[in-house]
Amino acid sequence: MRIYFCPECGGYSLGPASQCDECQAVLPDDSWADVTEEELSQLEYIEELELPPGLPTWEYDVVKLNTESGVNGISYSTEVLNRMGEKGWELINILPGDDSEDPRYGVFKRSWVPDYEE
Ligand SMILES: [Zn+2]
Repeated sequence: MRIYFCPECGGYSLGPASQCDECQAVLPDDSWADVTEEELSQLEYIEELELPPGLPTWEYDVVKLNTESGVNGISYSTEVLNRMGEKGWELINILPGDDSEDPRYGVFKRSWVPDYEE
């Protein structure tokens, strides 16, 4: 089944959907994923976990890196890494493609300390 992620509130809606179930924001056309029943129940499980007050939360992003060998590929990837670093993102892993020709993906994280209302 297909689910759509909301960039506004971080929620997800079961497809077909054009608006977020949670906040009614318009969902971008490219912000979806095909998931299995099991993956969906994992998302539901995570949603129900509670965040104890005062703990930082982690935000993750996955960005495609250039696998072209040679100067071009390297300078592109260096640029991407530096720009992510400037925005507070730390590279924590690289996911390989299926073979050496496929793109690799950098996994980045940064922490937030959420604001709690008094
Ligand atoms: Zn939303």
